[in-house]
Amino acid sequence: MGSEETVVYHEPAPLLDKENALESMMSRFDRAAEILGIRRGVYEYLKTPVKQIIVSIPIQMDNGNIEIFEGYRVIHNDTLGPSKGGIRFAPDLTLDEVKALAAWMTWKCAVVNIPFGGAKGGVKCDPSKLTVVELEKITRRYTANLLDIFGPERDIPGPDMNTNEQVMAWIMDTYSMHAKKTETAVVTGKPLIIGGSVGRREATGRGCMVVTLAAMEKIGMKPKNATVVIQGFGNVGSVTARLLREQGCKIIAISDITGAYHEPKGIDVGKALDYIEKNKNLGGFPFAQKISSSELLELPCDVLVPAARENQITARNAPRIKAKIICEGANGPTTATADPILQNKGILVIPDILANAGGVTVSYFEWVQDRVGYFWSLDRVNRRLDRMMKAAFDSVYASSEKHKVSLRLGAYVIAIDKVAQTLLLRGIYG
Ligand code: NAD
Repeated sequence: MGSEETVVYHEPAPLLDKENALESMMSRFDRAAEILGIRRGVYEYLKTPVKQIIVSIPIQMDNGNIEIFEGYRVIHNDTLGPSKGGIRFAPDLTLDEVKALAAWMTWKCAVVNIPFGGAKGGVKCDPSKLTVVELEKITRRYTANLLDIFGPERDIPGPDMNTNEQVMAWIMDTYSMHAKKTETAVVTGKPLIIGGSVGRREATGRGCMVVTLAAMEKIGMKPKNATVVIQGFGNVGSVTARLLREQGCKIIAISDITGAYHEPKGIDVGKALDYIEKNKNLGGFPFAQKISSSELLELPCDVLVPAARENQITARNAPRIKAKIICEGANGPTTATADPILQNKGILVIPDILANAGGVTVSYFEWVQDRVGYFWSLDRVNRRLDRMMKAAFDSVYASSEKHKVSLRLGAYVIAIDKVAQTLLLRGIYG
């Protein structure tokens, strides 16, 4: 076994830049596996999902017709503990996408050192075309089909694209009805009143703030008046903006799907949040100058936080990015082909699997609280989150220095090494 061939990394195909964030992620995985000199068999094990389940979900629609939806659950790896990962509802969802997202969760949980494996799931449906009753039926039937998979000690879903606290409450209730007892810990991201955790909604943005401050410290940048640009002023982006502002940073530009807004003297984050509360989005925001989305990414600034969606920083615009630190609030905002360009420019990129792991960390806290039946104060949640995010940043930084690679590869090296070592200690059953 010791002489097993080790993994050889191949340059990502040029096409990667075109869109496939998930392939981008896997190409970094390959690179990290090569740095670790991981054995071929272990490499294959870590790439292969443990379980891939497809379920049919027959639903009687409000108009009386019966429609069949397709649902998926993929457990990528459960070496570190029960698997954890969100459920998304999307019309173009595919098993391949779910598989890759599940792998992403494995690495994210390992980087922040929480005792979970990685999973992902979802239903191929368009929630904007469904009534609440239809959505509830889909959620409950999907859950019922996966009763043998889900479980507080087995596999714990959470919210993802187009699913929310209400959907999580339906999952919890369906599972509990079959278990003949209330099982709050079977799912995270629940409403507070039924076992959710305080601080969960702000957790991802808070984690972004913590790692950004840690990165600033490494390069000797003071938060006071450091200029910050936020792409995507949603949950993650707006919380990151508010918390960095509280640390003294100046938020000079924000954007959402309706447009980008720039004010060199600093945007009042409170006013932007009030504006969204009243108008649903930033469209027509009067307190800053409208610029294009591509201009926003290329503004001179100290910190750029892409917190909208994947594939925003590519080989095409990377040469024009002027930020000193990039904190990846979104999943996969930077393509693999942009990585070396940013690195050559000396930009410190805090990778998604570290930067936005605050969310899954507080989901872990929710699961712990549910299992113990004792709920923490906001102060305790935040202190523990801050501590875990700072510790994760420090270990990723140390790994990147040790291997003389980017923070991103440093993070993948830590994650893969941890799962591989645990796997070898547990041994291969069979
Ligand atoms: P959200 O829907 O609350 O916010 C997304 C924001 O991005 C919205 O303001 C939207 O208008 C904007 N947006 C979309 N496309 C855009 C574009 N092309 N240009 C500029 N703005 C655009 O979602 P969120 O929960 O804040 O998630 C944002 C990202 O963070 C996603 O990639 C998500 O997967 C990732 N993430 C979220 C969490 C979490 O806990 N919410 C955890 C980990 C990762």
